[in-house]
Parts: sequence; C-alpha cells; structure tokens
Amino acid sequence: MRLRNKVALITGAAKGIGFATAKRFAEEGAKVMLADLNEAAVMDAVGQLKHAEPYVLDVTDRASIQRAVDDIIAKHHRIDILINNAGITQDARLVKMTEVQFDAVIDVNLKGVFNCTQLVVPHMLEAKKGAIVNASSVVGIYGNFGQTNYSATKFGVIGFTKTWAREFGQKGIRVNAVCPGFIATEMVKAMPENILQSIEQRSWMARLGTPEEMANVYLFLASDEASYVNGVTIEASGGISL
Ligand code: NAD
Repeated sequence: MRLRNKVALITGAAKGIGFATAKRFAEEGAKVMLADLNEAAVMDAVGQLKHAEPYVLDVTDRASIQRAVDDIIAKHHRIDILINNAGITQDARLVKMTEVQFDAVIDVNLKGVFNCTQLVVPHMLEAKKGAIVNASSVVGIYGNFGQTNYSATKFGVIGFTKTWAREFGQKGIRVNAVCPGFIATEMVKAMPENILQSIEQRSWMARLGTPEEMANVYLFLASDEASYVNGVTIEASGGISL
C-alpha cells in the first residue's frame, strides 16, 4: 500500500482523471476526499469507492472550500495530499473569445488552484509535511490553437508549482505538476471528431491516454516514493511533442 492512511483531497474528483486518481489512491490505502461541483456525480463516485467521502464545493468559492477543509480537519486532523485537478475548457480563437469565456476558465483553472492551495497549506505547514500535485497540461508547455484562456491557466499552474516548490520545500511540502496529453475523458470527447483523429495520428503512441494512466503519475508524485521530487512537471502525453 503506497498511500496507507494518507488523507487526500482531490478536486474535480467526480469524473475523468480526478475520479480515476481517487480510485487509484483508495486502492493504495488512502482516505480519499472527493470534492466536486457536481453533487449527483460526486455522490455516485463516492458510492463506488471504499474510504471515500464526498464534498460538494466550487473551487472558485473560497467559503465552500473552507467548509470542506474545516470538516476534513475536524474528522481526520490532517490533509496529507492535495490534488488540484478541477478544470474546464471554453475554447475559441482569440478573435472570437468573449471576456466571459476568458474569465470563467481563469477563475476555475488558475484562481481555483490558488484558492484550494492557500486554504489547505496552513494545515500542511502545521504538520510539517505534505504533497501537492497540480493539473497542468501539454497545452501549458506548448500552447494550443483556440485555447488562449486554457493555455494561459496551464502555463500559470506551472508557475505556481515552481514558486510553491521554493516556498515550501524546506517546510516538508513538495509541489509538483502533471502535464497530461490528450486523455479520453468528457473534456476531450467534447472536441470535434476530426481534431481528435489528427491528435491520435500525431501521438507517437497513436492513441489517446486513459484517466488510469494519469492516475498512476499522480500516485507517484503524491507518494513517499517521490520524496526528493519537488517543483517538476511530468509530461504524460505518449510523446506527443516529440
Ligand atoms: P472532466 O471534465 O472529465 O472532469 C472535471 C471535473 O471537475 C468534473 O467532475 C467537474 O464537475 C469538476 N469541476 C469543474 N469545475 C469545477 C469547479 N469550479 N469546482 C469543483 N469542481 C469542478 O476533466 P478531465 O478531463 O478529467 O480533466 C481533469 C484535469 O486535467 C483538468 O484540470 C484538465 O484541464 C486537466 N487536463 C485534462 C486533459 C485531458 O485530455 N482530458 C489534458 C490535460 C490536462
């Protein structure tokens, strides 16, 4: 068991990569706190796992995060692992992108990571240990057509990761990021079929990744096996950028 008795808070955990990560962490002995905006989906997700608890929260709403953190601390006395996974897309070319689309993606993907980390980290500082893993993307390394807002947030998440790795490394808290390529979840299935096919052709592995493959990367970075890994971004994309 690689996460025996660790308390892990995972945002956006009702579906996709977040749910696969919660499932994998539970298999490795963690107590998993599944946090999501979608109440029905998070209740359903928790019902499929052992040692899992649901938290309905919005990463853009600090009061809802604070309530969840307070409840977890009251019940479990610590948060060992924070997975900042919640994210959305609202794609459009720059000339067509509305300010509403721009702000919505910045609020969830960038400010949401700031909000959750700022509210969880005091408890990790008190415990003098912790592991934080942030969801970036290959788009946060290379940019992407039609994703001005999304790619800015994913570049920003790498900036957070490297900054917090410096701020908290000496305090026993490691901060790292995962940069998935194109993974078969609802977020990617929403893309047009012809674009998906061209992505599969461009990937050196000729297929999309799976949420379970991403969960294994989160598992490594969250576990004590990565005890000297701090401030890195692991690209898990089947080599799409080669
Ligand atoms: P998904 O759409 O399948 O699931 C995202 C979950 O986040 C949903 O359950 C949703 O309800 C929740 N969520 C959305 N807004 C929220 C909010 N404000 N507060 C709380 N929860 C919220 O997404 P996914 O494909 O599993 O992606 C997960 C993360 O990985 C995202 O940050 C995404 O940007 C990143 N990522 C995904 C891919 C991919 O190909 N799927 C690639 C690179 C990076």
